[in-house]
Amino acid sequence: MVLDHEILIVGAGLAGLRAAVEASETADVAVVSKVLPTRSHSGAAQGGITAALGNEEEDQWEWHFFDTVKGGDYLGDQDVIEIMVKDAPRAIYELEHMGVPFSRTRDGRIAQRNFGGHTKGYGREPVKRACYVADHTGRVVLDTLYDQAIGRHVRFYGECYVLSLVFDDGRCCGVVTYDLATGGLHFLRAKVVLLATGGCGKIYRTTSNGFSTTGEILNLTFKEGIPLQDMEFIQFHPTGLFPLGILVSEAARGEGGILRNDAGEPFMERYAPSIKDLAARDVVSRAILTEVRAGRGIGGKGYVHLDLTHLGERKITEKLWEITSFARIYLGLDAVSQPIPVAPTCHYLMGGIPTDGDGRVRADQTARTVPGLYAAGECACVSIHGANRLGCNSLLDLLVFGRRSGKAMKDEVAGVKTLLTGRDPTKPVRERLAALTDREGPEKAHAIRLEMQIVMTDYGSVFRTEGALRQGIDAILALKERFSRVMVTNRGTSFNYDLMETVELGHQLDLCEVILVSALNRRESRGAHFREDLPQRDDQNYLRHTLAFCATGGPRIAYKPVVLGRFQPAVRAY
Ligand SMILES: Cc1cc2nc3c(=O)[nH]c(=O)nc-3n(C[C@H](O)[C@H](O)[C@H](O)COP(=O)(O)OP(=O)(O)OC[C@H]3O[C@@H](n4cnc5c(N)ncnc54)[C@H](O)[C@@H]3O)c2cc1C
Repeated sequence: MVLDHEILIVGAGLAGLRAAVEASETADVAVVSKVLPTRSHSGAAQGGITAALGNEEEDQWEWHFFDTVKGGDYLGDQDVIEIMVKDAPRAIYELEHMGVPFSRTRDGRIAQRNFGGHTKGYGREPVKRACYVADHTGRVVLDTLYDQAIGRHVRFYGECYVLSLVFDDGRCCGVVTYDLATGGLHFLRAKVVLLATGGCGKIYRTTSNGFSTTGEILNLTFKEGIPLQDMEFIQFHPTGLFPLGILVSEAARGEGGILRNDAGEPFMERYAPSIKDLAARDVVSRAILTEVRAGRGIGGKGYVHLDLTHLGERKITEKLWEITSFARIYLGLDAVSQPIPVAPTCHYLMGGIPTDGDGRVRADQTARTVPGLYAAGECACVSIHGANRLGCNSLLDLLVFGRRSGKAMKDEVAGVKTLLTGRDPTKPVRERLAALTDREGPEKAHAIRLEMQIVMTDYGSVFRTEGALRQGIDAILALKERFSRVMVTNRGTSFNYDLMETVELGHQLDLCEVILVSALNRRESRGAHFREDLPQRDDQNYLRHTLAFCATGGPRIAYKPVVLGRFQPAVRAY
């Protein structure tokens, strides 16, 4: 079946929904999501959204600008970072006008809290910059934007997997979807397509990310010849609930929580003397694992304690209710009187599909873009976050660049005519699925997935070395070979998760290779990419973005310059 829309958005997280709300002012917009729209991972965001409103204490957009550049270890592009931080207050007030019930100060203004790496006076001391709705900010904003989109007659296709991007003469003109309920394949044709499909945290064993955060669309674009940028930069959030990896938001430290080792020592004082527990995430994650490696984890084990016990029951119940309820539900402990066991957990992809500041996908190192194709949100690399994202800057990125993509798309579609009338793009997809379901083989997807997650955790996480990365690449190549003999046991057409998860796994294995090869080629340490064999930052050779291109024999690596501006690279200490 062919379904026509002017604008097609893949992904119903905050980036996709913000774009949909914008574009639907004048265009016919549809949103496709492989989960029910409001189950998108954005709904799990807890801590908040940054904007230099200065509601609690003095703040300036220039300080937000500096913190973001420094937080990203000078790899972020300063032209787009400036756009984002200047636009932040407007983005927050707009949400307020749409109905988001932000937490309030005593005098009724939007309340703000501390978050890691956000400072006043260019690094002097922490500043309250994150606007929040208790500790379920993402849930509330997602529901509000979904409501707005429904009110603007945006069409939703829920539980539909995008399995292929369709191009006509180099222009993206739609997608092929698999309807989970029926197993039917459809061609959704459009004049422009926005990819807003989130991150890929599920390739690691321990992650804060939801089960749908598998990243296959990143690989679909890669296979179409579009580069992936800065994929070596994967953020590990310092405080995953041990051993599950479920997130304990930085809001807990923003509200005064302290990390302690086995001796009860508040060890962050040694690693980040000025802002301690509120240092950037890469710094805190390395500090925790350094404590653990030195035998100072709790009971000598692989975790430390996050201590909230001095905050008092009232503050915890009012501001950190969801976080502490996770500790109660999953570990049976009461955070009011007991410390929470935490360890780093895979959280966020700084890299992704390269775009310009209006979401247009960039084809290579030049300013050339891919006609008809846009990307926004975590799957995109604008690049705002450089080598390490600051807390609460992701939701801001989604809102600012989601809206800008929506605007650019609605302006573009007016002049585009409907394309591709001649051929059936579902045919090759049908054949690929049939090849999977018809195959008899000894391998099972779930076993390969588990091994992939262990390989990535062992060889490509917080600490990396050349030897480990090479071992990781070899292990992933061996898993890819085994994947060619994988068998899908469920041959049904209704809710066949076995089939879809196998398709996802094939893409994930390719992505792992891109990540490890990008990391191997970056012979320095910067932000979240820490090479124990090369612990220094090397601006001479690596103050540049990695671009990985699909090629025979493995990803081909190229580089492009970073856009510098007001802030020149300097020593990064907290
Ligand atoms: C637990 C947690 C807490 C967080 N807290 C904060 C916070 O407080 N502040 C902050 O700034 N950031 C936070 N982050 C980060 C932030 O939430 C994410 O970066 C952001 O929500 C990603 O939004 P998105 O719109 O890009 O994609 P997502 O919200 O991840 O949505 C992806 C969408 O793409 C769809 N999709 C994916 N693949 C396909 C496919 N093949 N076919 C069809 N649809 C597809 C999915 O169905 C989904 O609708 C947090 C992240 C996590 C995991």
